[in-house]
Amino acid sequence: MAAAIEGGAAERAGARILDGVELAEAIRERLAPRVEAFAGVAGRPPTLGLLLAGDDPGSEIYVRNKIRQSDALGIATDLRRLPATAPFRDALAIVEEFNAADAVDGILVQSPLPPGMGADAEARIFDAISPAKDVDGFSPVSAGRLVQNRTGLVPCTPAGVMALLDHAGIEISGRRAVVIGRSDIVGKPMALLLLHRHATVTICHSRTADLPRVAAAADILVAAIGRPALVTRDFVKPGATVIDVGINTLTERQQVVAIFGPGSRKLAAFERRGRVLAGDVHPDAAEVAGAITPVPGGVGPLTIAQLLSNTVRAAEERRRAGAG
Ligand code: NAD
Repeated sequence: MAAAIEGGAAERAGARILDGVELAEAIRERLAPRVEAFAGVAGRPPTLGLLLAGDDPGSEIYVRNKIRQSDALGIATDLRRLPATAPFRDALAIVEEFNAADAVDGILVQSPLPPGMGADAEARIFDAISPAKDVDGFSPVSAGRLVQNRTGLVPCTPAGVMALLDHAGIEISGRRAVVIGRSDIVGKPMALLLLHRHATVTICHSRTADLPRVAAAADILVAAIGRPALVTRDFVKPGATVIDVGINTLTERQQVVAIFGPGSRKLAAFERRGRVLAGDVHPDAAEVAGAITPVPGGVGPLTIAQLLSNTVRAAEERRRAGAG
């Protein structure tokens, strides 16, 4: 695991490192017999329909990883591609085809959709995805069920964070949690999941006044911002659990030196590759935190593991309901 941590926050840690790679592996191992059992009964593997529209390089990598990990577990994938110039109705037609297909259990539309599809394209696509197949948990029905704490498919990244907290034995009930970020895919569902486990939750965002002071009240601090190293040690209560959801690519040497220091392993990795990943949490936070997730190797691997988990669950539940 140490190699995947690649320095960063973990390099300075007095804190316990919460290893997402190891837990993701354990989650996949637990899913394997369920995939096999489903295939035995259904006569086909659990199946994930993916739509990749446009040519965003990050999306290519994410989709490739999702397919590779599905394959490795015996989950079938059906990848549809659309050019960046495709109209919105083409994306909608693919989602509707997946909705209607008995042998498709989960539907994933890779974000972002091309700008030409319109500013509201993602919301309209999420509206169209059948809730029973909504393995990303982004549809309004899934979001509504989560608000009401009813069973449903939960967004993968926050579900992965909950799995990591539980695996690490971090107490949630009665603790103060602060979530920085209020997006529909990470911040809001994260706050709800913590709330449903009886944490006292504060959601912070770009207009929160005196952010470090608010954050420093947290026993569990989740950073889902998309700003490299914004969360410095003064945001962290001594002994707090710090979950770094941010994935930021640094391409400027100067920025790597400023955040990680001249002798750091991150800088050495940057000299080899010309870029490195940084979380939203500054490495000096690890000197104060009780437990912290590395980037990479923390929350990231759990996101795909939860996607696989949601796909298997959707397949099983559709079968129990008499479909597929
Ligand atoms: P987003 O841009 O939709 O939301 C960012 C949130 O941060 C917003 O709610 C905004 O109010 C808040 N914010 C922005 N600047 C701020 C500031 N200066 N102070 C306080 N709050 C501020 O992003 P997102 O989709 O929620 O993703 C957040 C981060 O998590 C990104 O780095 C993204 O790459 C990463 N991410 C990682 C995974 C994973 O698998 N680990 C999955 C999804 C997203």
